[in-house]
Amino acid sequence: MDCPRCSSEVPEVSHFCHHCGTDLQSGDAGRKKAYAAKPDEPVASFRLVSTIMPQGAGRQPYTYKVALGIALLLTVVTAALGALPVAIMVAAFAIPIVYILYLYDVNLWEDEPVPVVAAAFVLTGVLAAVFTWLWSDQVGLSLGTIGGNEAGPSGRDLLILVLLVPVVSELIRQVGPLYLASRARYDDLMDGFTFGVVAGVGFACFETLVLHWGWISGGFAGPGSSAGTWISVVVLHGFLKPLIYGSATGLAVAEFSGLGEKYDGFTPRWAAGLLQAMLVNALFHGGVYLLGFVGGHGSTVGAILGVAWGLVLLGGLIVLVRTVLHKGLLEAALESAARGGSNHASGELAFCSRCEMPLLPHSDFCSACGNSVRSVPKSDRGVAVQGSAPAAGYEGTGEMQA
Ligand SMILES: [Zn+2]
Ligand SMILES: [Zn+2]
Repeated sequence: MDCPRCSSEVPEVSHFCHHCGTDLQSGDAGRKKAYAAKPDEPVASFRLVSTIMPQGAGRQPYTYKVALGIALLLTVVTAALGALPVAIMVAAFAIPIVYILYLYDVNLWEDEPVPVVAAAFVLTGVLAAVFTWLWSDQVGLSLGTIGGNEAGPSGRDLLILVLLVPVVSELIRQVGPLYLASRARYDDLMDGFTFGVVAGVGFACFETLVLHWGWISGGFAGPGSSAGTWISVVVLHGFLKPLIYGSATGLAVAEFSGLGEKYDGFTPRWAAGLLQAMLVNALFHGGVYLLGFVGGHGSTVGAILGVAWGLVLLGGLIVLVRTVLHKGLLEAALESAARGGSNHASGELAFCSRCEMPLLPHSDFCSACGNSVRSVPKSDRGVAVQGSAPAAGYEGTGEMQA
């Protein structure tokens, strides 16, 4: 039979079109119930791991969940006990470390020289630290540190937080990922998104260290009445902020990468993604700053409201990221179907890394479970099977059908 969306010929038994990913059996148009990177989850969902770590979702989803859970617990307990230097260090490094493990796990580096990739992110970290030191030193506001200014919100502080910080910090976060996404090896939508998340997570880490340097140098405070505030601050800065920065930057870089082979570059879509990321950052900083004054500055109520605000923003971003990645994977597959199918699964014996069923040649989707072949690590896409050089031929050597 022929697929109603891309007109490719598909076997009668297929559940999904292996070229364009259309659900051939349930008639779920647009696959709202089967997220392209994890078909057993709906697209509109708050599930974190399959959103920010889409390429690992099919392999070891529990590893990341457990690692994140342990880090969160450790941060909360140390903050509650007043072990502030430990709490802030765990908060700053938890998500970067889990994310680096994920990148290692899905082998994103491949044969790219590690120094090139590392340099791009060391640069982001250094710029993040210098910029944060410059503005926080100038502003002298507390952003949830202990004590802080007693006066109410000031227009100047607010302007810095909703204009200067979002604009400059977002530009800093774009540099490394855009450089990497413009390399042929990493021109894929998923790569662009992932590099954006790395930059956001790395930036958040250095920003947290600079903003809360007082916690690190101030030593152990011991348990006290501020425990509620301390817990809120470490959860906000260690767990919500990096994910908010990361997904916003990732969405912009994904637009830069675009759908098909080769990156799209500085298109209006990238500019819109960049503005969106700046807006998200302005809402985050402005909201946390203003809510911090509820119930008197430095109050636990204000700090908890800041966490709630961060959760609202992150929830919205997660649904947005899933929608964009899902549509992107389906659109890219439709484009490549028009050219006769992808280079993925061009080996004789390729298997879906999710359900382990054999992949049909030139698949962009698994015809059995509907998982996107682009959402699995490149080494698992079925190009390097049967003794060909590992991961060497993915971009250019798979022959295209007429
Ligand atoms: Zn199709
Ligand atoms: Zn499958």
